[in-house]
Formats: sequence, C-alpha cells, structure tokens
Amino acid sequence: TAPLPAPADLPAPVINPNATIVLGKRYLRKGPDGRPLEDETGLFWRVALAIASQEANYGEERDVTATARQFYDLMTSYKFLPNSPTLMNAGTPLGQLAACFVLPVGDSMEEIFDAVKFAALIHKSGGGTGFSFSRLRAKHSRVGSTGGVASGPVSFMRIFNTATEQVKQGGTRRGANMGILRVDHPDIKEFITCKEHEHALDNFNISVGLTEAFMQAVDANRDYDLIDPRDGIATARQSAREIFELLVRKAWESGDPGIVFLDRINRDNPTPALGEIESTNPCGEQPLLPYEACNLGSINLALIFSPAAPDGVDWEELARIIRLSVRFLDNVIDASQYPLPIITEMVRKNRKIGLGVMGFADLLYRVRVPYDSPEALVLAERLMSFIQAEAQKASAALAAERGPFPAFDVSVFPAKGQGPLRNATTTTIAPTGTLSIIAGCSSGVEPLFALSFARHVMDGEKLVETNPYFRAALDAAGLSRPDIIAEVARKGSVAHMEEIPEALRRIFVTAMDIEPVWHLRMQAAFQKYTDNAVSKTVNLPNTATKEEIAGIYRMAFELGCKGVTVYRDGCKTAQVLCTGEAG
Ligand code: UDP
Repeated sequence: TAPLPAPADLPAPVINPNATIVLGKRYLRKGPDGRPLEDETGLFWRVALAIASQEANYGEERDVTATARQFYDLMTSYKFLPNSPTLMNAGTPLGQLAACFVLPVGDSMEEIFDAVKFAALIHKSGGGTGFSFSRLRAKHSRVGSTGGVASGPVSFMRIFNTATEQVKQGGTRRGANMGILRVDHPDIKEFITCKEHEHALDNFNISVGLTEAFMQAVDANRDYDLIDPRDGIATARQSAREIFELLVRKAWESGDPGIVFLDRINRDNPTPALGEIESTNPCGEQPLLPYEACNLGSINLALIFSPAAPDGVDWEELARIIRLSVRFLDNVIDASQYPLPIITEMVRKNRKIGLGVMGFADLLYRVRVPYDSPEALVLAERLMSFIQAEAQKASAALAAERGPFPAFDVSVFPAKGQGPLRNATTTTIAPTGTLSIIAGCSSGVEPLFALSFARHVMDGEKLVETNPYFRAALDAAGLSRPDIIAEVARKGSVAHMEEIPEALRRIFVTAMDIEPVWHLRMQAAFQKYTDNAVSKTVNLPNTATKEEIAGIYRMAFELGCKGVTVYRDGCKTAQVLCTGEAG
C-alpha cells in the first residue's frame, strides 16, 4: 500500500549545516542511481508515519495521521530523536530499527559461526552487536571431535572482526562490536592485551567482566580461581592484583579494555527467569540477554531550558516529551523487523526501550552551572529521576491500554509490588554520536569536547563550529572579537584565557578542564536513575598515572556504576567510533 502523503501544511524542518551533510550522506532514502528519493521533510514524515501506524495493532481508535503529526513535530523540534537505525530504516523494506543487540557465542564451531553470520546480518541493518566470549573453552584445551587443541576466544574474535570489516552497515556505517570476557576465564591475560599489537580487533570495543568476588580479592590481595567454562571446575589460581594491574596498565596505554561489573548488571536484570546478562551493546549503555535487542531514543535537554522557570527547567514540557517518546519507542518495537525469529521472540517478551538524554552540557551552560560542581550533580539526579519516574508512568499507562510486556509475570516487578508495565526497562543513556549532530546539541551526558573547533566533515570540507550558548555569552559580555574567537578555536577551552572573565571561565568548562573524578561522579549521578546503563568516557590528561586509573576503577565500583571507560589524552589507539564520524 502506498504511504499516506505528507499533509500539505506540514512545516519543513530547520536543518543545521552538519545535519544536512550527515542526513544527505546516510539517512535520506536513495534510489538505485544513488539519488535521494526524499528530502528531510520526507524522511521525518516517513519515520513518523511508520511508527504511528503501529497503533492500529491495538485497535486504538486514533487518527494515524494526527499521531504521525505529533511524532513529526516531536522529532523536527529536535526535542527527541530515535536512534539512527529508526531514522534510516523506518518505513523502508529493511525495517530494522534497533541500535543494540547481544548475541550468544556457544562453545562449538556451529554456534561460533552462527554468531558470525547473525552479527553480519545485524550490521547490515545498522545495529551494533555485543558478545560474551566467556563460554568458549580456553586456548590449548582439547577438542574432543578432532583430538586437536582449541584456539581460544581471542583467536575467534578475529573472525568476527574480519566479518565486520567486510560488511559496511547497510552500506552506511561500519559495524561496531563489544567483546566481553569474564575475569575468571583462563585466557583473561591474552584478552586484556589482545589489542596491543595488531589491528585485527579494530572493530571491537573490549571489556573485562568483573565480579564482586574478584574486586574483593583485589582488595585483600588474594588469589582467585580461573575456571574452565566447560565444567565450571577451577583450573588455576591467579593473583587478583596482578590482573587488576595489567588491566589498569593497558587502559592507561590505550583506553582498552574497559570494565563492566557483571554482578551489578545482573542485580538489575528485570527478568532473571529468562536468563543471565553476560554482555552489553558496543558502547556499553545497554546490557541485554542473549538474542535480545533494544531501541533507544534521546531527549534533548538543551531545549527544555526555560528562562522563566525558577531552576531554568520546563518540567511540564519535559513530562510531555517523555510521555510521547515512550509511546514512540514502544511502537518502534512492533514496527521493527528483526534479522532472526528468535530475536523477534526475545524482544517481544520484554519490550525493552531505552529513553535517555543528550544536550546535558548545553543545558548546564544555559542555566549557568559548571559541569564539575555539586549543583550539576543535583540537577543531573533531579532530571534523571524525573525522567525515569515519568517514563515508568507512561509505560504503566501503555500497559493499561495494550497489556504488560509478556514476561511481566515472571519478572522481578510483581514481587516488588510494582503494577503492570509495558516495558521491562525504559531508560538508557546512549552516546548519541550522530543524533547530537542532527539535533545540534552536546552529546549524551558528556561535557563539550571543545567550545569551538573545526569539524572535518567530508572530502576535505571543514566547518568551524562555536557552541551557541558560549557565543551568546561572549556577545553579551562584548567579547565576540575575531582574535578571541580564533584563540578559542585554537585552544578549544577558555580555562587559561585571561581575557575571559573568571565567571564565564568557570561555567564554560570542557572535558579536559574537568577533573576525572567529576566525570565519574556525573556518570554515577545519572546511573542512579537509569534502568540500563550510561555511556560515558572518563577523560584523563596525558599526565594521568596508572594509580589514578586504578582509583577511578575502584571508585566506579563504589559509586554504583555498571562499568567504566577511561581515555587518556594522546594515548595509543582510538576507540571504535560510535559517533557520526564512523564509517
Ligand atoms: N552503533 C553502531 N555503529 C555505529 C554507531 C552506533 O552499531 O557506528 C550502535 C551501538 O550499539 C551504540 C548505539 O548504536 O552503542 C548507540 O550509539 P549512538 O547513540 O552514538 O548512535 P546514534 O543513534 O547517535 O547514531
């Protein structure tokens, strides 16, 4: 059936110059000759209509066009955007709309190569995949069927990496993977150092799955057991400190591996009866069960600023956006076509969605609160607790209309006295690498990387971008002089610019001006009210020591984070890109 045409009076969205390039290159539907079949109005209408049409599944006597218009306005106001695969694929024959997947990797040739194939299908559709390789038998273990010896998790990861390399996602973006190994796997040392010499794992972010028992063994300087995944029998003892120090040294050198706290992630597993969580998606924000997928969406906090509100936040508008966004994301689950029947089955049992935020650093600029201050932590907690509570209310309201998620009865909620919910999780904080470019805001909950910088877009094109709120503050202070703007663009930060008043220097801080501990405190503040996890990098100066990283890891554990990624300025390798620059 032909899609409903866009209403004649539909206002065209305002598109910023970077968004024009990104949307044109990767998001607008193209015909066989490579020419676009739609403009930006067509793109957002295609998405709005495909997602609104799902309401008919529930016999909801709503006017699809009216709902589509609400969704269109929501997206083109840039107050909310769904994750990239939804923008790219909604209303198209491919129709795969989720960014995050986790696939199991079993300890047999068949299961390993099944996982390679499934990952290729997911990458083709624009999704990222996470795997735990912990079930694979250790290197040099016996292979019963051949009498030979096994090559171990790291060597199989190279096959996943190569497959990823060859499948450009949907012809648009490069696939991203997360590889996790439990700290008690016999090959843990090889895993921790696996990105050291070769580019053979460039399409992987890697994280070590830490357990509470391991963290206690580090504290007590005890040995812990390495365990054969095939029978659960301890094969060797290992000094916990030695592994912890190796982990810290590699992170200091290259940013890889990160760490995830598996016990904590599983304490927040809403449906333990359906299985144990062993991995997250590539950027770490979305823990999932094997074969589960999740679609994300982000609210742009920069645009809920209200100068009239006592605290600068328009809470009523925020509540409205949350309700509409939760409805949108729940519809995405039904609109999406998943690459495997078993994924469809898992997704529809739990109906997880991940509503999060972007533009937080911009909001702080607007309300004149420094990122590295107790006030900023208070605001972060108020915002996220509000979003979590309102998103749950919206999910409960949907449950009343459409029924709870099918696994609700076996979930942890009934025992907690929690009434029916439509979604097993509602909140996740994504990196928003591309979404933040489209919306023209700061990404996720990260501080700005620079107040002004030259962005290399493509084919040698360069765009100088200055943060609009900083620019306005300079204007108001009569300081928008070409020499000052040029110096900010060169330095990125005003921390050491005498010509800028102290009060402005305090507010307009950037990632590198912020002490690492504030990065972590901010991550923890958002994590406290997020069902899933928070994508965040703890930026460190080049001069940071290994002891500082060790301190950050321990503190992340104490503050209740689900994992942590550090990046020391100027260190060896870059992370797998999860930004609009990727691909
Ligand atoms: N992702 C991916 N490849 C990419 C970028 C992202 O597979 O090049 C997936 C990955 O699972 C990541 C998630 O999308 O964790 C969300 O990333 P982000 O918020 O940056 O995506 P956006 O929606 O802004 O494109």
